[in-house]
Amino acid sequence: MRISSAAASDIGRVRDRNEDSFREAAPYFAVADGMGGHRGGEVASRLALTTIDALREKGDATLGEQVREANRAVHERARTDAKVAGMGTTLTVARVVEGTLQVAHVGDSRAYLLRDHDLQQLTTDHTLVQRLVDIGDITAEEALTHPQRNVLLRVLGTEPSVEVDEHEVALRVGDRVLLCSDGLTAMLDDERIRRVLASTDGHPDVGAARLVAEANEAGGVDNITVIVIDVLDDGGGAA
Ligand code: MN
Repeated sequence: MRISSAAASDIGRVRDRNEDSFREAAPYFAVADGMGGHRGGEVASRLALTTIDALREKGDATLGEQVREANRAVHERARTDAKVAGMGTTLTVARVVEGTLQVAHVGDSRAYLLRDHDLQQLTTDHTLVQRLVDIGDITAEEALTHPQRNVLLRVLGTEPSVEVDEHEVALRVGDRVLLCSDGLTAMLDDERIRRVLASTDGHPDVGAARLVAEANEAGGVDNITVIVIDVLDDGGGAA
């Protein structure tokens, strides 16, 4: 099994800065969507990823440990630098290890798996509207237009420690993984995302570019970041 990937990040059509950051360092991938006044959002998302870069180079930390360390780094900076006080970021990281996809996340940047033309959301948003859906107060449909749909219940950097969700999936040849910021999912529903992914099979660069283009055509109200990861046969027989 081998992987082929492509990433795209775009400012969108409304914002004046792109506060999303991403890492495409196969077999390691991450998306972070920063928030905060001044340049806080950019600082938070970048610092989260550079913290994880350093841990990745050292080796042995689990993804969950990496995300918790990134939380400490962003929180410490926010606490000691008045210019970026209160900043925070989402963080969704993924890596492929021996045919297994590992995902860890905080916030509402999502991971999806396209398998046999079905799209499955691997992560659960840490948002108020997801909570309301979970307890049956509103439907998933209503969540898409809810006035408080941007409210995060969990975010990286605003507290000294954070709870991290972790998932693992045994990958198969033909699988396609998507990581994305909410600038994509606020504009395109899952069926539309599924169709773009399914129709660009084998071309992650085309898929990534088309997702961004369609999110912009739908309004582009937020920064849009996507990473598309294809799981391929390595030609050596056993995958
Ligand atoms: Mn966003």
